[in-house]
This record gives sequence, C-alpha cells and structure tokens, in this order.
Amino acid sequence: MARIVMKFGGTSVADLDRIRHVAALVKRHIERGDETAVVVSAMAGETNKLVSWARELSPLHDAREYDVVVAAGEQITAGLLAIALSAIGVDARSWLGWQIPLRTSGMHGSARIVGIDATLLDERLSKGQAAVIAGFQGVAPDDRISTLGRGGSDTSAVAIASALRADRCDIYTDVDGIYTTDPRIVPRARLLPRVAYEEMLEMASLGAKVLQTRSVEIAMLYQVPVRVLSTFDAESEGTLLCDEEDIMEKKPVTGIAYSRDEAKITLHRIPDQPGVAAAIFGPLADAGVNVDMIVQNVSEDGRRTDLTFTVSRSELSRSLDAIEKAAAAIGYRDVTSAADVAKVSIIGIGMRAHPGVAQTMFLTLAEKGINIQVISTSEIKVSVLIPEEYVELAVRALHSAYELDAE
Ligand code: ADP
Ligand code: ASP
Ligand code: MG
Repeated sequence: MARIVMKFGGTSVADLDRIRHVAALVKRHIERGDETAVVVSAMAGETNKLVSWARELSPLHDAREYDVVVAAGEQITAGLLAIALSAIGVDARSWLGWQIPLRTSGMHGSARIVGIDATLLDERLSKGQAAVIAGFQGVAPDDRISTLGRGGSDTSAVAIASALRADRCDIYTDVDGIYTTDPRIVPRARLLPRVAYEEMLEMASLGAKVLQTRSVEIAMLYQVPVRVLSTFDAESEGTLLCDEEDIMEKKPVTGIAYSRDEAKITLHRIPDQPGVAAAIFGPLADAGVNVDMIVQNVSEDGRRTDLTFTVSRSELSRSLDAIEKAAAAIGYRDVTSAADVAKVSIIGIGMRAHPGVAQTMFLTLAEKGINIQVISTSEIKVSVLIPEEYVELAVRALHSAYELDAE
C-alpha cells in the first residue's frame, strides 16, 4: 500500500473513452489499497479555446475574469472523472482548487502556489476515497479563482504530492517519459530512464514543455519522487527524476531543448559608458518584462556600441514600448527587432567535467550554415539564438553530434 498522486494531461482525458481508460488505471491502484489522489488537466484543446474566447472579446481583459474562464476546463474533467470512477464502483469525489484549499499568490493568470491545506484531502484518502482534483487552479488572496500559467497542472500535482507526503507523483502523458529531445521533432530521440532534477529544470525552462518549470522546482526543493510515464503504454517504466548523485553515467550532453517563444531587440549606437545598461533594463523590469539573453558589442570608437537582448515573443511589443519611453535616458540612435528567432540549448550535468562541449555545438551549426546571433551559457547548458527556420535542422544535427540518436 502506498499513497500516490497521479496526474493526467489533456490528451489523456481528451474524450469520454480516454476518461474511462484513466478511471480504470485509477481503479487498479484503489484495488491495491493505495491512497490515490488524481490531478487532471482540461480535455485537449479546451484551454486554448477558452483563452481565445477571452482574447476575442477583449485583448486587454481583466486577468481575474480570464482565470474564471480558463479554470473551467479542469472543473469539467474533474467532475467527469469522478462520475466515471463511481460508475465502475470506485468511491470518488471531485475537488476544485478553492475547496481544498490550494492557496496561490495574487498574480492572476500565472499565480504561484503559496500553501495547500491537506487536512480534508488527507481525511478522505485515509478512508479509501479517491480524490479527483482539478489541476491548474487555486484561490488567490482576494478569494477569487486563480490559475498557475500554461501547463500548470504539473505543478498542482507535484505540490499536492508534497503536501500529502505522497510516496510518488506519477505524471501520465502522451509520450512514455522524458526523451533526449522532443520526440515529435526528432524520431530518433531516446527515452531517458533517469534525469537529474537540475537537468530537468534547465530542459523545462529552456522549452521542453513536458513538465512545467515550476513543477520541477517544487519537486527538487521538496524532494518529491516524480515519474513521467505514458497513459497509453502500460509496459513503459517511464522516467524518474532523481538527484545528480544517483546518475551513474554523466554524458556531457543529456538533452536538447528548443523554444520558438523568442524575440530579439537591438539598440544601435548606445553610449558606451557606465549606467547605460541600468537605463535600459530598469524600465523593462518595471514593465514586468523578463529579459533572457544579452550581448553587448565591443565599441569600435570607445564612445558608442550596440546591445542585443531577447524577450519572450508575447512581450515584444510591451518591451519596445518601454524602450521607446526611456529613449531620452538611454540615448540610442535606433531600435530594431525580430520575432523570427528561436533558441536551441544543450543541457547536461556532465558538462561541468567535459571541456570543449560548446565547441562541438558551434562547429555543428557552422557545418549546417546556421548563423548564431546570441550565445548564453551556464554551468550545465549552452543556448544559442538562431533564425527560427533552422530550429529543427539544428536540433537534429546536434542530437547526432552529441551521439544521442537511438540505434
Ligand atoms: P500533457 O497534456 O500530458 O501535459 P504536454 O503536451 O504538456 O502533455 O507535454 C508532453 C509533450 O511534451 C510531448 O507530447 C512532447 O511533444 C513534448 N516534449 C518536449 N520535449 C520533450 C522531451 N524532452 N521529452 C518528452 N516530451 C517532450
Ligand atoms: N489546461 C492547462 C493548460 O493547457 C493546464 C495543463 O494542462 O497543465 O495550460
Ligand atoms: Mg503539460
């Protein structure tokens, strides 16, 4: 007997047949005597539909009303799964975020979990009742419904597993684990039986949408044993997130991630003097923009230079607006921007011990004639900004260059 949290993503609950299939998977655990909490996403495509409705009515809608609308997808699935479970003789009830309660910050649309009162859930689980929980949603300090940002059901599941002191959090999805890269663009990607929390954190934040970044942060911080596995393939063992020490073979590169959600801004001929970076990035921070990569050229005449940085594509117009408002304080000649760029990253804890890893990346991209626009590195990753049209080519070439292809 164990206490487990199972999470099912949108494709896993896309229609009534799949919901029945999920109910059967849950029933197996209940019959084994496991105390089982199930976190569900909205049915595939539902959240996109709800988001587009809100945007269509008004692009500048109130984020609190956005949350009321988009949280509805998970409410429907939770109710349906509870009904499907009861229909096969499993005692189950649905739980919305506020009923638990799962409390969040007040940042509507991308709230963070601040606390989960597990008392009620705990009581019901110990009586053998399955808890079917609507993922992605909680209640904000203003007592209104909040949501956790796209992909947020992963975070609901891991946080609830931690609050319930569950033995395991199983994330069921439409692939059978974490691969060396997105198996949808590289068919030769390989399943990784284990991935270190640190690596998964980089992979998620650099674009691998298989887990929401915040869910990995919580798993790492609270040591939640997370497994990623397939809803549709009962044979597959999936991938276990673990500590770095538990990985025997540390290859220089474990995985490759990419993100198309990138835009590039260049300020031409800014003064090459102290205080200019602060004059640029201060107003951006005030506008709530997250700046990612930054590169400043060496000034040729010691007086003026160019500076390029990247932001998320959805924040491009807000960023340009902030820069234009600060034009006088910055003193640039002109601004150019581009949204047809993408970021490709190589990730691996083994990088710490292997010199020359980045060089292989640069050579591989050069051989394919792909121009690198910006580079950024950390201890366990190297990211490059390239023209978006070359993303798939770059990911495939790097996957082969680092010997990640399946035999
Ligand atoms: P769910 O609806 O179950 O939450 P998601 O669509 O959010 O599923 O995440 C699963 C998808 O993540 C896969 O279908 C796959 O295309 C994508 N993905 C991106 N990178 C990876 C990776 N390295 N390993 C596995 N899947 C990945
Ligand atoms: N349904 C939400 C989304 O699509 C949350 C999730 O699926 O994790 O973003
Ligand atoms: Mg997801």
